[in-house]
Amino acid sequence: MDADPKVFVISGPSGAGKGTLTTEVLKRVPSLARSISVTTRRPRPGEKNGVDYYFVTADEFREHIRKNDFLEWAEVHGNYYGTLRSIVEKELAAGKDVVMVIDVQGAISVKKMMPEAVLIFIKPPSMEELRKRLKERKTENEAELERRMKNAEAEMKLAKLYDFVVINDDVNRATDELVGIIQSIRSKS
Ligand code: 5GP
Repeated sequence: MDADPKVFVISGPSGAGKGTLTTEVLKRVPSLARSISVTTRRPRPGEKNGVDYYFVTADEFREHIRKNDFLEWAEVHGNYYGTLRSIVEKELAAGKDVVMVIDVQGAISVKKMMPEAVLIFIKPPSMEELRKRLKERKTENEAELERRMKNAEAEMKLAKLYDFVVINDDVNRATDELVGIIQSIRSKS
């Protein structure tokens, strides 16, 4: 068992490929658990409650805030997202390392609370490529796409606050790089 469990935080603009890369990393790295967030966003086709997110109403989300259930929470693209303290604590107590896929505001809060957390930023190869990927996945309408592109520009400026930056130019290559980062951090403990 890992005597010193680690927290990895992965952020990056919508469409940069954080979800895909995290799924690939979880297949390859043992004893690593993704913390499943709570959100008020509506599920996209194919998304499952309790697998991709815990999908809740705004009232249910507010109730979690009131009960201080969240390690961190933020409003992103007009919806609320939060990380449940209980999920992270349970995985860490079981000796697992935890990966949180959260936005830049959440990442900054986690780093303040847990300075040992390792922050990794996923960048698209270019803004044109990001727009292309967002268009291709067809999960957002035109206004939503523009909102995500605008947020992406602001988020990219915050990449400098992260411990590592990985460019997702190719899923296999970027996965190898992420796995390498996680293994090198683990081998230090
Ligand atoms: P999406 O709607 O595309 O799944 O996620 C939108 C953004 O919310 C992404 O940047 C994602 O990383 C972020 N996000 C997802 N879960 C959380 C969370 O628990 N906390 C915070 N702060 N951001 C989250």
